[in-house]
Amino acid sequence: MKWKSLKDTDPEIYSLILKEKKRENNKILMIASENYASKAVMEAQGCLFTNKYAEGYPGRRYYGGCEYADEVERLAQERCKQLFNAQHVNVQPHSGTQANMAVYFAMLQPGDTIMGMSLPHGGHLSHGSAVNFTGKLYKTVFYGVNKDTGYIDMEEVRKLAHEHKPKIIITGASAYPRIIDFKAFAEIAKEVNAYLMADIAHIAGLVATGIHPSPVPYSDFITTTTHKTLRGPRGGIVMCKADYAKAIDKAVFPGIQGGPLVHVIAAKAVAFKEALTEEFKEYQKKVVKNAKTLAEALKRRDFKLVSDGTDNHLMLVDLTNFNITGKEAEEALDKAGITVNKNTIPFDTKPPTVTSGIRIGTPCVTTRGMGEEEMEEIAEIIEKIIKNIKNESVIKDMKKRVERLCKRFPIY
Ligand code: PLP
Repeated sequence: MKWKSLKDTDPEIYSLILKEKKRENNKILMIASENYASKAVMEAQGCLFTNKYAEGYPGRRYYGGCEYADEVERLAQERCKQLFNAQHVNVQPHSGTQANMAVYFAMLQPGDTIMGMSLPHGGHLSHGSAVNFTGKLYKTVFYGVNKDTGYIDMEEVRKLAHEHKPKIIITGASAYPRIIDFKAFAEIAKEVNAYLMADIAHIAGLVATGIHPSPVPYSDFITTTTHKTLRGPRGGIVMCKADYAKAIDKAVFPGIQGGPLVHVIAAKAVAFKEALTEEFKEYQKKVVKNAKTLAEALKRRDFKLVSDGTDNHLMLVDLTNFNITGKEAEEALDKAGITVNKNTIPFDTKPPTVTSGIRIGTPCVTTRGMGEEEMEEIAEIIEKIIKNIKNESVIKDMKKRVERLCKRFPIY
């Protein structure tokens, strides 16, 4: 029996894992930042390298017994470099936020100005939000999307950059459904002598497979998480030009972290190997195709999408025409077994705890094998729920349809 020791030692945690397994299997997960890591990734992440201290870097550690940890980290580095065509990579950051922190700590002083995408327009907390360390340590300037088009307003980016002269410009987002023009960002950064950092946490899988243009040729720093479209273990990485390699490595360790999580680095290496396959490229193509199909199917059913569609793995639904909040939609959909997250839409008048929108992503459903036909069905189920949000019997019927769909596409 699997996990026998865990069951004997800690039945409470064991039972919660089983419940989570059921949830992940029996619900349609559509949170855009999530995915199902492969068994191989999870086996590596749950392995005995969790026992090992390995402060430092391969060949220059502060602990003995690192010969195999060194090999693991070198493999992860080499595969990551190959995958993204990067000059230098640090695979040690424990998370995406820590990857970003490493870049800031390597290149900036407290009080410097940083410029990123505003959180309610799709940016991330670690791009300067007031409640994040970035908003406390640095002066912040934010750009956003154009009110009419929903696309990043590059003229505003240029104007703000010239006006505020930020030391670093951050491009990349958590809730932006369109292609990001990294080359245009690089031109603006050059004009004002700023560093350019591309945070590709959401789109890393698309970038790795060439489905979204890569920021690597244009950016001084590229950060990402490894667990979203990239489908690896929970963690972060920093890539950079060779000139900045030393500064970045020093910022990660000893700057902001102690011992690296060697078991997670092993799992990152496995994920990079998987991402280098033709099969993974096909998967990423399907993720985008599914997102486009779902977006069109929702539009045909009276749903308004920010920017009127998607180029990537996610869409942002503006619910104002239905007169319901993101919070209400998230709750009703989850009752029927579709898990999404409420999300502010650009120029939202509601607070982030309520919101006027939901964010929907296709990485998870695509991993479990669903295709365009299923996207049409999911759109129909979402429509029925949103248009009958107070009708318990409709929600019950939709729950049955969700269960049938999940049974046809088991993940575990
Ligand atoms: N950057 C972006 C664009 C993200 O969307 C996220 C997570 O959602 C992060 C960074 C942070 O990642 P983590 O949650 O691992 O700190």
